[in-house]
Amino acid sequence: MSAEVTVVTGGNRGIGAAIARRLVEAGHRVVVASRTGTGPDACALTGTVSMDVSSASSIADGLAEIEDTYGPVGVLVANAGITKDNLVMRMSDEDIDAVVQTNLSGSIRLCRGVARGMIRAKTGRIVLISSVVGLLGSAGQVNYAASKAGLVGAARSLARELGSRGITVNVVAPGFVETDMTAELDEGRRDEILGAIPLGRYAAADEVAAVVEFLVGPDAGYITGSVIPVDGGLGMGH
Ligand code: NAP
Repeated sequence: MSAEVTVVTGGNRGIGAAIARRLVEAGHRVVVASRTGTGPDACALTGTVSMDVSSASSIADGLAEIEDTYGPVGVLVANAGITKDNLVMRMSDEDIDAVVQTNLSGSIRLCRGVARGMIRAKTGRIVLISSVVGLLGSAGQVNYAASKAGLVGAARSLARELGSRGITVNVVAPGFVETDMTAELDEGRRDEILGAIPLGRYAAADEVAAVVEFLVGPDAGYITGSVIPVDGGLGMGH
């Protein structure tokens, strides 16, 4: 077991909790960064810190606390994200800003925050959790899809900047996953989505976590700048 820490943002519930659990089981020293400063129940985490990824100062403070208390960050999984859906004509400035700030700016700041230590260590793994809608588009999700597409450009640029230092940066793009986020969808929309998914079902959060585990594990050392779909075939060709 290494002295380095694996940070999962939004690891308290949903996909993030599934990722935290899997990585703990795989032997990582996992620190969950969440707004409440709590992690999932019954999970042998190394620690938890409070972090609001929509705030630059909260990210800086949270990362400093992680490094001071638990050790250098060797793996970052930027998972925390929100939706504020509406048709673009009805989308408020606040909803545009909140989604981009949380999903995109927050992830870029997190990467910047961990890059120095990874460069020093000449190794590191970063995974950004995007979405199938980032490349497919989705009516009513202009803010969300733009933020998730932005993660692809960010990851690929980071992969180029940091590759020579032994750091990989990849994107996982889930389709529809059974979590609180999709529980908000009404029955009609749910049926419509299911009809478009070749596998005909939503993903379990753990199916996304399994791909993250692979990307941060020893067998994925030569994979960087990739976008890996976990979407039941929904986004094929993108
Ligand atoms: P979820 O159940 O709604 O959980 C979202 C997580 O993000 C929660 O832990 C939440 O913390 C955290 N979060 C939100 N805003 C935050 C902030 N400002 N600072 C810190 N943490 C914050 O969502 P999910 O379905 O697990 O989604 C996880 C990621 O996967 C997101 O990036 C989402 O866009 C992406 N994704 C999800 C799906 C899907 O179908 N569910 C599909 C594609 C991509 P709190 O508990 O404090 O609210």
